[in-house]
Amino acid sequence: MKRVNIEDKKVVGVSFRTKDGDKFVKVNKEAIVSGGAVNSPQILMLSGIGPKDHLREIGIDCIADLPVGKNLQFATGTNATEGVALIKTGLEESEAPDIQIVHFLGEFYPSGPVTSAQSAHVYNDPKFFPLKNYDNTSEERMRKVGFSLFVCLLHPKSIGEVKLRSKDPLDPPIINPNYLDDPYDVKALIEGIRFAKRVTETKAMASFECQFHCMKMPDSTHDEWSDEHLEQVVRHYAQTVYHPTSTCKMGATEDKTAVVDPQLRVLGIQGLRVIDASIMPNVTSGNTNAPAIMIGEKGADLIKIGRQE
Ligand SMILES: Cc1cc2nc3c(=O)[nH]c(=O)nc-3n(C[C@H](O)[C@H](O)[C@H](O)COP(=O)(O)OP(=O)(O)OC[C@H]3O[C@@H](n4cnc5c(N)ncnc54)[C@H](O)[C@@H]3O)c2cc1C
Repeated sequence: MKRVNIEDKKVVGVSFRTKDGDKFVKVNKEAIVSGGAVNSPQILMLSGIGPKDHLREIGIDCIADLPVGKNLQFATGTNATEGVALIKTGLEESEAPDIQIVHFLGEFYPSGPVTSAQSAHVYNDPKFFPLKNYDNTSEERMRKVGFSLFVCLLHPKSIGEVKLRSKDPLDPPIINPNYLDDPYDVKALIEGIRFAKRVTETKAMASFECQFHCMKMPDSTHDEWSDEHLEQVVRHYAQTVYHPTSTCKMGATEDKTAVVDPQLRVLGIQGLRVIDASIMPNVTSGNTNAPAIMIGEKGADLIKIGRQE
């Protein structure tokens, strides 16, 4: 799908490309954009729906000035599933947990360019995580029996953005995740690491002669458990867990940060909905696939209700 075609603020068709070339289908009722948190904003912006200044910069006429692509949220983790813990660091007053110890993986999580058989593990694939983020002690560690605790920040305050690179639908959009921009995110991850250490120091774990392996920064002059060293650890080792959301945020019609209304209809445009993880107002407390499926189910119901009205 290249773009939706809009006339007088009403969707009239969809342009797309197949192996046989460019095609156009007429839309009689409505079009659904469901490209995910990166590509849905791209399709909307290519269609003239997005921040006016950015569209002007790219040379696209703005049909609806909406904060498309803003509010990009990614869960961030420092380091895969036998158990899960949701914890509150207490850094902020909130009913919701802000850290998830996602994975109580029954092996050492590979964090280096390992050459053993376990290097086949997907997480050690440079396609997923660039090698420069790895330490080089993992080969030794992976020969030992162990487990990994994956500290995951659930509600990052650092907000990113998806923008167009050009008018060409085949040009990948610019994704600026803005990781760890807000100091709260670093502090919360540090508290998560300290919590993980406390888990290894419990009576239950003592029976396994458990030893916590902190990823020491080789050149750091700071004490291993100081905030300063742990901030270096977080900033060096943190990686995404690939849960982008919220770039076509759902909100009330008067909400200036919203792109779609609670029925998932693009504000100010007739006959256009976005139905995917991009509509989440905020990233969920946990993994995003099941909520994205739920959004799809709810979206399907909303379309059916709309057609009965
Ligand atoms: C590597 C990785 C690992 C993950 N692991 C987990 C996990 O363990 N647990 C979990 O809960 N979540 C996980 N997620 C997140 C989860 O996959 C997403 O939250 C979920 O798939 C979002 O659903 P969506 O419908 O919004 O977008 P998507 O699933 O991305 O669907 C968008 C679809 O639109 C298509 N598309 C995009 N642009 C266009 C276009 N222009 N024209 C036509 N089609 C287009 C794409 O090919 C894709 O099929 C992971 C994500 C990644 C990338």
